[in-house]
Amino acid sequence: MFPSPGGMRSGPSSVQAAAQAGLPHAEVPGDLRARVERVLADEPVHRDPAVRWSRTADESEGRFGLGRFLWPHRYRLAMALLLVAAETVALQLGPVLTQIGVDHGIVAGDRSVLVTAALAYAGLLAVAAAAAAARTAFTGRLGERLLERLRVRTFEHMQRQQMDFYTTERAGVLLTRMTSDIEALSVLFNEGVVNFALQGLTLAVITVLLFNYDPLLALVTLAAAVPATVASSMWFRRRAAADYRNVRDRIGDLLGNLQESLAGIRVIAAHDRRNVSVAEHRRVVNRHRDANLRASRANSLYGPGSEAIGIATQAVLLGVGGAMTASGRITVGELAAYLLFLTAFFAPVQALVQLYNSYQQGGAAIAKLRELFDTRPSVTDRPDAATLAPVRGEIDLDGVSFSYRDGSPVLHDVSLHVSPGETVALVGETGAGKSTIARLIARLYDPTQGAVRIDGRDLRDVTITSLRSQIGVVSQEPFLFAGTVRDNVGFARPGASDAELLAALDAVGMGEVAERLGGLDGAVHERGATLSAGERQLLALARTFVSEPRVLVLDEATSNLDLRSEAQIEQALDVMLRGRTAVIVAHRLATARRADRIAVVDAGRIVEIGSHRELVEAGGRYATMFAMWESHAATDDAIR
Ligand code: ADP
Repeated sequence: MFPSPGGMRSGPSSVQAAAQAGLPHAEVPGDLRARVERVLADEPVHRDPAVRWSRTADESEGRFGLGRFLWPHRYRLAMALLLVAAETVALQLGPVLTQIGVDHGIVAGDRSVLVTAALAYAGLLAVAAAAAAARTAFTGRLGERLLERLRVRTFEHMQRQQMDFYTTERAGVLLTRMTSDIEALSVLFNEGVVNFALQGLTLAVITVLLFNYDPLLALVTLAAAVPATVASSMWFRRRAAADYRNVRDRIGDLLGNLQESLAGIRVIAAHDRRNVSVAEHRRVVNRHRDANLRASRANSLYGPGSEAIGIATQAVLLGVGGAMTASGRITVGELAAYLLFLTAFFAPVQALVQLYNSYQQGGAAIAKLRELFDTRPSVTDRPDAATLAPVRGEIDLDGVSFSYRDGSPVLHDVSLHVSPGETVALVGETGAGKSTIARLIARLYDPTQGAVRIDGRDLRDVTITSLRSQIGVVSQEPFLFAGTVRDNVGFARPGASDAELLAALDAVGMGEVAERLGGLDGAVHERGATLSAGERQLLALARTFVSEPRVLVLDEATSNLDLRSEAQIEQALDVMLRGRTAVIVAHRLATARRADRIAVVDAGRIVEIGSHRELVEAGGRYATMFAMWESHAATDDAIR
């Protein structure tokens, strides 16, 4: 998550490792320490990866498919195929030598021929074994490289997507794409492609040899084996494609369910719905099992079916070949070679059947990944996007209408001008469109109509990186990563010094809390689970403070904060807002009141705008809201 600076990372020393684990080094006894050092010395060195990262829309590598994906590695594949060819030829010459040994050695009583044939056979086997070893190592490396590329590509693709993508796709399903689907391709990449070639080539070589021995016998063999094999393969293909796709979907459901239950465990526990959650999970698991069973049923028919075809062919051949030997058309040695060839003939057929199975599984995964890669991010850099120079912070919404993907319009012709340094609060009912306006200003979405401008420049004309580096966004439910305080506060500016991070924590009034957590190295748990809502918001404010944005877009926390946290956040905001342009989605009128101007949003329109005084005097909607709030506050005070 947080790569260390510096280009290269070597395996940690035991001192570092002990320090990381929180162990004083002295606790590792001397002789053990030496051994630990030896083990750690063998740890591989990891380079920090070079990241190719772009936001332009047309960066696509074309439609994802096996062929296109393998193409850049064609030379390596060709090399692997050469090794395969050597292995195949070396192995398949065995029966030929057997035939020579039998006919010219044993039958003719020539000992030297027999010994030569046997030695040659042994030599060939050695060559085949060496070629096989080299090929396995080679394809193993190639396979891992392909998988790595695919993993990185999938992750990059997901990072490029706009927020809508994550609303419509369930996290668990995305996890499936990144783990299980890619794993399903592992067999295909590591062994499959080359093995496919190996077995295909073996089949071709043997077919040629069979014809060479006796065309008639070869024709009988092919007539017995080929039509049945082709027919059963076609049936399997149709069945397996649908079945395996179904399996992939069910795995997605399964991981989706797991992920959601884990993320929502507090809600599940609080509402005492664990039993329902278990029942739901069981249902999902059952569907997954059924899908797998269905797929394996097809497989269980296809595999043994092909084997039966092979055995039947052998029986036919024994009869026909035996008759031919009896009539003197072929020799006994030739019949022996022929039967050996036949066994060798069906070995690759069997292997191909298995490979076909993994190809079908991989094919389903590829189809799923292709669906994923076909989603294009909608918020992208234009090819001619310019870098946004440091802004003064003037924001304009110019006749902006917006609807979420396939949704009904959420904003209607909204216009808003925010001067540099001004703070504007957006207030209104839930669902009015306040957060949507905030998201458009941060360009998490592009408007359907109209334009959002900063310092007079349309947001779509500048690069997203240069824009976001000047806009600080604090969301309603700030996300904290599992790690340290330093990781979280310095997130937006990895180069920031400790002094700057501490200053930011102090500025937002988190200094004390951070100290309690153990300073910058203090632990923050996943999503900040051990912090209060107020502390999470403050930590998020500190994170934004460190990145020193010119413009602040803040979605105020809706969660009820205690008075002390509220007061702290208000103080923090005072510091944050100084000298910055800010748009705040205010859920509490106390916050709105302090803004320079307040915009009342209702059903996707700004219906009132002005300072607190102006709006109260105007006696409109805001005045009513404020009067209500004041009377509530008075009652609350009375209760207290
Ligand atoms: P507010 O911040 O004022 O409570 P929002 O801007 O969040 O309102 O939402 C405005 C409308 O847009 C609501 O009707 C909401 O249901 C809808 N909406 C919000 N986010 C999404 C989304 N990601 N996809 C589709 N509709 C959304």
